[in-house]
Amino acid sequence: MRRISIFGSTGSIGQNTIDLIRRAPQDYEVVALTGGANIALLARDAREFRAQIAVTADESRLAELRDALAGSGVQAAAGRHALREAASRPADWVMSAIVGAAGLAPGLEALSHGTTLALANKESLVTAGPLLMGEAQAHGARILPVDSEHSAVFQALVGEERSEVERVIITASGGPFRTWDQARLEGATLEQACKHPNWAMGQRITIDSASMFNKAMEVIETKEYFGFLPEQIEVLVHPESMVHALVGFRDGALMAHLGAPDMRHAIGYALHWPERRDLPVARLDLAKLGRLRFEAPDEVRFPALRLAREVMATGGLAGAAFNAAKEAALDLFIAQRIGFCDMARLVEQVLAAMSARGELASTGLTLECVAQADEVARARLLDGAQVKA
Ligand code: NAD
Ligand code: MG
Repeated sequence: MRRISIFGSTGSIGQNTIDLIRRAPQDYEVVALTGGANIALLARDAREFRAQIAVTADESRLAELRDALAGSGVQAAAGRHALREAASRPADWVMSAIVGAAGLAPGLEALSHGTTLALANKESLVTAGPLLMGEAQAHGARILPVDSEHSAVFQALVGEERSEVERVIITASGGPFRTWDQARLEGATLEQACKHPNWAMGQRITIDSASMFNKAMEVIETKEYFGFLPEQIEVLVHPESMVHALVGFRDGALMAHLGAPDMRHAIGYALHWPERRDLPVARLDLAKLGRLRFEAPDEVRFPALRLAREVMATGGLAGAAFNAAKEAALDLFIAQRIGFCDMARLVEQVLAAMSARGELASTGLTLECVAQADEVARARLLDGAQVKA
């Protein structure tokens, strides 16, 4: 029996993880499940798997969670401290699938106990990559990538020397606005941005895919996780989302990873690593597919990609500021208070202002200085949005 916890169990990645566990419940002992507002789903899963504890991030929902778990023997808890406490409980494998910077603290906590962390929460690597990787190293804990591109790179590197890698190419579907011109992009609506052509995911990452902020974050994630140089990391638009990433070696060979766009592949790979097990994902019929398309990304229409390069060049707290400003801009777009292209414009302004004031420099990342940069960036973004309005 493996002891596992799922942070963000009620979300898209969380439910795909539950789907895999449900197929072989005898193999797992569930320690903690966590969610937000969807108390019914959290309680249902916690009861089904007889979890030790269920935690909602929303403190105002604790009574509701207690009621939903009454008589089940599952402990109910709420809030940030409870999330950290749950992450400190002995486990063999922890899925980090909270969305946003809120995923950082529980991930760090799990790593500090030497627990293997399956990392879907890319925000923690963008925000505080050196902190997360350092914590893993200090405690002999392993981080396994769950983002599909990073799982693909990880798999392409099995048995290879890192020093022989020339470049890494991560693919992007291009999202629903791949072919839209700038004028049309300015008027893109929330509803349009929420329609991903290939992947079914949470709302926030779906919109980030449309703006290419998701790919921008993934470029930084590639640098932080694998330690490649920014100039070794390329983005390639690939509308079919069948090739997830390619690794290029010094002899010119490219190793590509292909699979149906189904997150259960990357989650299952991290769950069973270093073994491979049967997974309930569709098998590709390449003859039926006929052809795959590839295009260069457009950093003019999708400036997030250019901003990622600037963030990597700046280092320090730039990742924390970039992620937080992006999260705040996304909140405003979801609230329909700013336009689609305003997101990148406002994030760029925040980075420039913080850089000019020396607020991105750091002499070693700590959770405290990262949290402060995060707070400043969110406040600056709101100010910037008000000026615009
Ligand atoms: P989602 O919105 O579907 O689910 C997010 C989960 O986090 C939910 O359980 C929610 O209750 C919880 N949550 C939200 N805010 C929280 C907070 N402040 N504190 C604690 N918990 C909170 O998101 P998702 O699509 O499953 O994505 C989860 C993470 O995985 C993100 O970092 C995303 O970038 C990454 N990811 C997702 C996919 C995908 O296919 N969905 C693919 C690659 C990477
Ligand atoms: Mg991805």
